[in-house]
Amino acid sequence: MRVNLTLVCTECKEHNYISKKNKRNNAERLELKKYCSRCNKSTLHREKK
Ligand SMILES: [Zn+2]
Repeated sequence: MRVNLTLVCTECKEHNYISKKNKRNNAERLELKKYCSRCNKSTLHREKK
């Protein structure tokens, strides 16, 4: 039930993180505050579909 997902910076659209999630526990789209090396700060990252 685990799926790979890509976390994309919502400001510069850089693909910064590869992650996994359990589809059963996290059906909705993930949003996480993570550090973006391109923006040089913490930005909101969103799961790419
Ligand atoms: Zn960024």
